[in-house]
Amino acid sequence: MAVNISSTISPFLLQQKPVSSYFPALQQQVYGQPLIYFDNAATTQKPKSVIDAIVRYYSTINSNVHRGVHYLSQQATEASEETRRRVARFIHARHAHEIIFTRGTTESINLVAYAYGKYALKPGDNVVISAMEHHSNIVPWQIACEDRGASLRVIPMNDRGELLIDELDHLLDERTRILAITWISNSLGTLNPIEEIIQKAHQFDIPVLIDAAQAAPHMPIDVQTIDCDFLVFSGHKMYGPTGIGILYGKEKWLEQMPPYQGGGEMIKSVRFEKTEYNDLPFKFEAGTPHIEGTVCLQAAIDFLESLPLHKAFAYEQQLLEYATQQMSQIPGLRIIGQAQHKASILSFIIENTHPYDVGVLLDKMGIAVRTGHHCTQPVMDFFGIPGTVRVSLAVYNTPSEIDRLVTCLDKAVSMLK
Ligand code: PMP
Repeated sequence: MAVNISSTISPFLLQQKPVSSYFPALQQQVYGQPLIYFDNAATTQKPKSVIDAIVRYYSTINSNVHRGVHYLSQQATEASEETRRRVARFIHARHAHEIIFTRGTTESINLVAYAYGKYALKPGDNVVISAMEHHSNIVPWQIACEDRGASLRVIPMNDRGELLIDELDHLLDERTRILAITWISNSLGTLNPIEEIIQKAHQFDIPVLIDAAQAAPHMPIDVQTIDCDFLVFSGHKMYGPTGIGILYGKEKWLEQMPPYQGGGEMIKSVRFEKTEYNDLPFKFEAGTPHIEGTVCLQAAIDFLESLPLHKAFAYEQQLLEYATQQMSQIPGLRIIGQAQHKASILSFIIENTHPYDVGVLLDKMGIAVRTGHHCTQPVMDFFGIPGTVRVSLAVYNTPSEIDRLVTCLDKAVSMLK
């Protein structure tokens, strides 16, 4: 099927200038070639507005939050709390205090696995995840299950990389305490039908955690419409700073969960006999937070909203379709992950070549891709492969970059054969 996409496409409100011109890191050359960056699922490049916000933060309001009476501390506190309100609006949370700042998706999931696990998991209970989870949505649940005497159940998938949702009818029962699942698979690109999954879980009153690490940079999110109980994502994958992540949780769960870490900020009063914990959201934010990252996440949200996200999603879908079509022409190339609904990620292997060798050769031609298991070893085991080459797309990628990738892949393959 022909895809109607031209190399001059510019679907953004930013208009006129190519989107990549807003990203200083994309202006450079590597090994004498213009950089083409296809490792966006690992982390995105940052627009100048985010970089400027970081410089501005340290040049003006840098100060510790919540503790100071002085001007700078009040400014930093206000800017951090404004981010909380912005994030709440960005994902349509009911309350700003349902937004907890963490270090990233990994810490958000660990927080829920620990604190919700301590609150809800008893011996004989079970936790349901899926066959395509990132290690960070597997291992924290394994630890929680081991600690609490619970067991882990896994929703299987087919060889196209689609979850067998009907299996939920057997997997969910009255001892299931939580279902934790990714929205978009970071190694297959599968876009899971999370609304259907959430509805099924809610029939048993089972709360659902959505790993939105790969969704937040690509599509609008409305936590009230999808009705998830927890949703987690990372700033650095959505054009923002590293070290800042989000945990959204429904108030009713967060209120009942015990704290994750102890220390300053998460308390109301401390006596040697007894400590009284702080209210939401601070109960889960012990110690000095990543203030710069928190404040500057606003600039990333501004960028995403300026696209706006639904247009970015449509553009990236076209780009993915184009890439799939072009790369399928390469002899011996097999796409890993051929779900009907996919987003932004194209994983593949090439007959008689190792993904690592392909990645190294592409790098020398100025193209950044990721190779390996992508922190999804069970997915690689399922397909019986050591790893894949992964091309992950962002809003600044273009069809002409895909064309160059195909040319370079052809070259790499002929060098390796
Ligand atoms: N879940 C998914 C689906 C991911 O793609 C990633 C990052 N590759 C993570 C979780 C972990 O994110 P972070 O390293 O930012 O904590």
